[in-house]
Amino acid sequence: MPGPIDLDSRTQTSARTNGARHLAPSPHSDEEHFREEVRAFLAENLDDELRRAARLTTGVHSHIDASQRWYKILADKGWIAPTWPKEFGGTGWSASQCHLFNLECTRAGAPLLCQIGIRHLGPVLMAHGTQAQKDCYLPAILSGEHIWCQGYSEPPAGSDLAALKLKAERGGDEYVLNGTKLWTTGAHFSTHMFCLARSATGARKQEGITYLLIDMTTPGITIEPIISISGEHELNQVFFDNVRVPVANRVGPEGEGWRVAKDQMQFARSNNINTAWVRETLTRLSRFCATESTGYGDILADDPAFARRLAQADILLQSIEMMELRVLAANEAGHNPGALSSMLKTRGSEVKQRVSELAADAVAYYGLPLQHTALNPFAPCSIIGSEVAATALPTYLNERAATIYSGASEIQRDVLAKRVLGL
Ligand SMILES: Cc1cc2nc3c(=O)[nH]c(=O)nc-3n(C[C@H](O)[C@H](O)[C@H](O)COP(=O)(O)OP(=O)(O)OC[C@H]3O[C@@H](n4cnc5c(N)ncnc54)[C@H](O)[C@@H]3O)c2cc1C
Repeated sequence: MPGPIDLDSRTQTSARTNGARHLAPSPHSDEEHFREEVRAFLAENLDDELRRAARLTTGVHSHIDASQRWYKILADKGWIAPTWPKEFGGTGWSASQCHLFNLECTRAGAPLLCQIGIRHLGPVLMAHGTQAQKDCYLPAILSGEHIWCQGYSEPPAGSDLAALKLKAERGGDEYVLNGTKLWTTGAHFSTHMFCLARSATGARKQEGITYLLIDMTTPGITIEPIISISGEHELNQVFFDNVRVPVANRVGPEGEGWRVAKDQMQFARSNNINTAWVRETLTRLSRFCATESTGYGDILADDPAFARRLAQADILLQSIEMMELRVLAANEAGHNPGALSSMLKTRGSEVKQRVSELAADAVAYYGLPLQHTALNPFAPCSIIGSEVAATALPTYLNERAATIYSGASEIQRDVLAKRVLGL
């Protein structure tokens, strides 16, 4: 690491406000310079429409049109892939610079990006892809021309992913796919899917799995929407009926897809917790509570019971921010964060849920009208009441899934029990 990371100053302020222990600021001139450069760029490029789309986000990414617009602005600047090495079109930034970049973007009100290609597929292709695959797909991920979805889970294969059954039969220089993928986030707007398919039945179920790249316009693919408990359309079931995928689209050797996907899944767990975003949500909620009435003439933030819950969420979030920095330091030192990423995923999902519960309680019945149309930042209608109230319930409902996707909490606890406690 080039030096200690200067934590978000607002994190420290809120910790002080709540009487919690906080880290002393540790300014580092290179980091300050980097921060200034990022802040100047954000001030110039983030407009009101993008900021509003960010505030109205209730799911895992902001409205796809705003998300893609911001994606392309970052791509033009060369900043869309902070974690990628320079040789592949990334920024070549250190782990602490990537962290600061995310903090600054979130604090400035940037939309949440849909970046499955950047985070999940890119590193896989860099490590296991052929030169032709790298040349074809990495630039298209960087430019935003390709939007990727992840086709891993199936009806009988979620936690027990190796039980997957999507059949990939080899016929000449093609695989013919038959079966289904479930819970595929963003399949309805994605141009491509990376997926795991069964090309053989091995002695162990992890054997005979092949990693494939699929163009979503290939004949035989049908996408059925799944409307979630929050009423939103993020998820899908994807059906494959004799879908022909060229052998050239296979990543790694046939039957070794499990090995190809394994490292990526470990990385993805910790990657899914955007603590900066949770911090921003908590800060906005605290501001809301500072003016909102309890309904009995007092201000919500002055209500001792509610103030205690806000402080508890803040303290828990701080501990997770520290955990995130430990993962960051491990990455920066070239170490695998190992079980720490399971801990971060478990506790990080819980704090997301806790903050969303507080918001739902704070807005009370003002959150009950579901305003899906108005939550679309491009819709020609405005929100009734405050943005915090309009987003609270859909976010609360959406966050129920945080302890399920990217490895359910029970599974993460199993990993921790085995690897950390040796049980
Ligand atoms: C919002 C959302 C988005 C998703 N997006 C995607 C996506 O884009 N692509 C994709 O491929 N998948 C996606 N998924 C699927 C996700 O990865 C699975 O839902 C997850 O792995 C859990 O699998 P399952 O739903 O089959 O539940 P199950 O595996 O059937 O689990 C059900 C319950 O049993 C518990 N359980 C299971 N096994 C054990 C065990 N051995 N020990 C203790 N407890 C256990 C689980 O923790 C859970 O509580 C998404 C899921 C959600 C909810």
